Amino acid sequence: MTDYYEILGVPRDASPEQIKKAYRKLAREHHPDVAGSDSASEERFKDVSRAYDVLSNPEKRRAYDLGADPASPGGGMGGGFGFQDIFETFFGAAAGAGAQRGPIPRARRGQDALVRLDLDLTEVTFGAHKEVPVDTAVLCPTCGGSCCRPGTSPRTCEVCHGRGSVQRVARSFLGQVMTTQPCAACHGFGTVIPEPCPECSGEGRVRSRRTLGVDVPAGVDTGTRIKLTGQGEVGPGGGPAGDVYLEVHERKHDTFVRRGDDLHATLQVPMTAAALGTTLQLDTLDGEREVDLRPGTQPAQVVTLKGLGVGHLHAGGRGDLHVHVEVQVPTALDDEQVELLRRLAVLRGEERPESRLASASSGVFAKLRDKLSGR
Ligand SMILES: [Zn+2]
Ligand SMILES: [Zn+2]
Repeated sequence: MTDYYEILGVPRDASPEQIKKAYRKLAREHHPDVAGSDSASEERFKDVSRAYDVLSNPEKRRAYDLGADPASPGGGMGGGFGFQDIFETFFGAAAGAGAQRGPIPRARRGQDALVRLDLDLTEVTFGAHKEVPVDTAVLCPTCGGSCCRPGTSPRTCEVCHGRGSVQRVARSFLGQVMTTQPCAACHGFGTVIPEPCPECSGEGRVRSRRTLGVDVPAGVDTGTRIKLTGQGEVGPGGGPAGDVYLEVHERKHDTFVRRGDDLHATLQVPMTAAALGTTLQLDTLDGEREVDLRPGTQPAQVVTLKGLGVGHLHAGGRGDLHVHVEVQVPTALDDEQVELLRRLAVLRGEERPESRLASASSGVFAKLRDKLSGR
């Protein structure tokens, strides 16, 4: 005998609710409209329906538990399969759920918007107040979002009587099936607008250009998004506004390069100044600052100016400014300069410099290699 409990996947002492729940789940999975119309799923669907027919009826279930099969021909009950009941149980409940949902609200939330915000290095370093123009939708000033010509109001849909949906009876191989569809006359809203607002054509909102003021915090970077809650477009039907996200794009600076919250700059120093030492005025984002170069300053030497970098985002303090020294070797020397440099070379015993290879661990290349390999 067929094990109807096994087909529904419920224990033998399952409650009517458990049986109903198991049946609904399986019927959804194996319904021909979902599973396709291949014969295997049709058979499975019939099995599931037959099992439910027996186990959902207290009399049939008792007979089945005692060893009779009420669903098989000559099984004793003679009641047939009762598919109509099953469909009413299943689809009737589904239609009920649909009706409970009711009409779709006409007012819906507006979409979020992503707006690009270009900032220069000074602005991301110190933070800035920006006025950002955005093209968006605002509440229609004529109808205030009601979508109706002033003095008129929405009317209940005569086709669906305000439900927003209509029920149709379709025939299937197992009998009549009730389906619920959105009402075409009112697009599911349950109401129609007899006279749309002339300004917004019944949308409840109109296009507009607004300017949003925003305080950009110090430390934002390319890709940082700033959320302006409720500053986006008003939704259809005058629905609540979406959000605006400002996405930061930092413009390249002429002299400073940003790495994290530190800034880097290259300072070009004549060979003589590097050798003799000097004090230079440096144009920083905080105005002029003095940079002291000691006598004997080397190429690629770094002078760090503490706290002159970018402000840390949502935290106190700032990064540093690293000044990289680039020693410039003079070119296009005139006769007198050549003579002076020759004399210097003689005085330093450097007229014929020996070939001297730096140790592998201390040379420029070693530092470069360490940097590349991340050591
Ligand atoms: Zn309007
Ligand atoms: Zn309708």
